[in-house]
Amino acid sequence: MRAASPDRVDAAGAAWRRGGLETIARSSVGASLTRAHIEDLLDQAEGAAQASFAELTRVLGLRAPEDYVREFALRVEEVGQAWPLPYFALYDGDARVIELNTTLIAEVESHLRAMGREDLVGEGLLRQVAVAHELHHHLCRIPGQPRSLVRRWRERSTAKVRELLEELAAERFSQLLVGIGHAPQDYVQAAAQWVRTRGEGGTSAGGAAGGPPHSGLMWPRP
Ligand SMILES: [Zn+2]
Repeated sequence: MRAASPDRVDAAGAAWRRGGLETIARSSVGASLTRAHIEDLLDQAEGAAQASFAELTRVLGLRAPEDYVREFALRVEEVGQAWPLPYFALYDGDARVIELNTTLIAEVESHLRAMGREDLVGEGLLRQVAVAHELHHHLCRIPGQPRSLVRRWRERSTAKVRELLEELAAERFSQLLVGIGHAPQDYVQAAAQWVRTRGEGGTSAGGAAGGPPHSGLMWPRP
């Protein structure tokens, strides 16, 4: 785990916020939200993620994401299908499983290396970010622990907006927990690029199933 200076945290927060605008734009309710509502959503998500991060690390200390997975009696199940599964990971609360699409993760890592973005790959950074993201969806479903603001917010908004808020919070939380300075949404963008590259490479699958993945990437299972 990395130690983060306050400046670095602020820069990371700004990067997440910029990425969050793309998450909002991709969502089914994005077009209907006012600028003020969007700013409020981002503020709420920031508060929720910070609260979850503070509570989790207060109780269990700062650890690698997959350590918490074991702590919460969840398990990571690796699935190996890059296409047509347009997600890095999925959380299944009933099965207590985080499904990790290791094939897509490996493909996107190769793509990032080819693009000269080794800094986004690091030592399993994408895997950690994907697990941390899904872990936050789990935390949002534990009664009273941690007392995430997302839980309060869930009661006073439309389902689609609540879903979006939870998604933004999961993105910010994953960034805080893994300690990265870039936006987690950079991986979503890289995956979309990879899919486009794949389509242009002559296989029909890239475009056939609706082109680049949109909200499916790192989106919680409904
Ligand atoms: Zn999600």
